[in-house]
Amino acid sequence: MGIRHPGEVSWLEIDANALAHNARVFREMLGAGVRLGGVLKGNAYGHGFAETLPPAHAACDALFLIEARDALAVRAFEARTSAVRRPVLVLGAVDADEAVELARAGVDVALTDAGQARFIPALRAAGVRLRGQIHLDTGLGREGFMPDEIPSALQWIAPDAIEVTGVLSHFANIEDVTEQSYAARQLAAFEEGVRRVREALGLTGPLERHIAASAAALLLPAAQKDVVRIGISLYGLWPSNETRLSAHALLGRVPELRPALSWRCRSQLTKWLPAGSYVGYGCTYRCPTRMRIAVLPLGYYDGYPRLLSSRAHVLVNGQRCPVLGRVMMNHTVIDVTGAAQPEGVVTATLLGRDGDEQVSADQLAIWAQTINYEVVTRIGAHLRRIVI
Ligand SMILES: *Cc1c(COP(=O)(O)O)cnc(C)c1O
Repeated sequence: MGIRHPGEVSWLEIDANALAHNARVFREMLGAGVRLGGVLKGNAYGHGFAETLPPAHAACDALFLIEARDALAVRAFEARTSAVRRPVLVLGAVDADEAVELARAGVDVALTDAGQARFIPALRAAGVRLRGQIHLDTGLGREGFMPDEIPSALQWIAPDAIEVTGVLSHFANIEDVTEQSYAARQLAAFEEGVRRVREALGLTGPLERHIAASAAALLLPAAQKDVVRIGISLYGLWPSNETRLSAHALLGRVPELRPALSWRCRSQLTKWLPAGSYVGYGCTYRCPTRMRIAVLPLGYYDGYPRLLSSRAHVLVNGQRCPVLGRVMMNHTVIDVTGAAQPEGVVTATLLGRDGDEQVSADQLAIWAQTINYEVVTRIGAHLRRIVI
């Protein structure tokens, strides 16, 4: 048996059926001919890249990543399992050596700025041609070419080294609002930008156009274009409450997304503390009566936010158990007085369902003063992920 993996005390369960269900929800909503792309950045939004890749690869038509090595891992997975080759696009920063490797692997790379002219000598030296997609900054103020700098901003793109296969952009302000005037302006700028890119590069063939992430795919049918890039909602989470409200107003119903992630932990020990005992650093909690506590071998190191101190509850045997005092680096103490069997270990659900109760990523985000995206992506990469 030997030394235990941290995943044997605290682990994540990835529900592959939930992921497939969420992909179906989007397929039913997409216009004819619009392809479904899945975003696996941020360790697949904390769900685990390696564990999420097989079900996501099966459910999606295309994959979007941040890092070159993840794209190469997709190609290795396809070779190993004889899966079809999906279109893969690296959205994030790559260097010249990576550009060469990605060209060899048939992976597309986002072209975001003229600094990438450094790819050209490396690509020529290797004798490969890179598939590049022009990222337009239509109002996010992040990476990408400003549409009105085209054609001059694209002059470095040498056709012998780079084949331009698509144009993309990203919305700035859909999740935080219930009216979409800024998004409409971005969409208009995108359409004009695509026209300019075609003209500047003399492109007449098909060009893949994409701008919609989860919220836009749900709320702005005109933004679906050729492919959508679904991140958070592929994992069964809503981009925001505003998005859910807007979806209800627009569609007359709320599509059912199923969260794919549960986080569970076996207690290190349980014990009784006498009335008046303190719990945790700072002595911020004092037991009003004799209480039974469970010590969970998990803390902010594992991605359970310290802001959950004295605020969150976890589930044990389908019952809510408050977090007592401070969340520590490797320990969290919960009150199991009403929930535990007489002896032994308890299994706590930190995120997900247990019986009739549920702790959602949205609820954790409210307690921790952040958004569900951050809650799930910060769950430690060292924890074991199990696909169920
Ligand atoms: C993160 C990201 C997405 C996915 O966004 P969600 O809101 O998670 O669906 C799509 N495109 C780009 C460029 C992104 O950075």
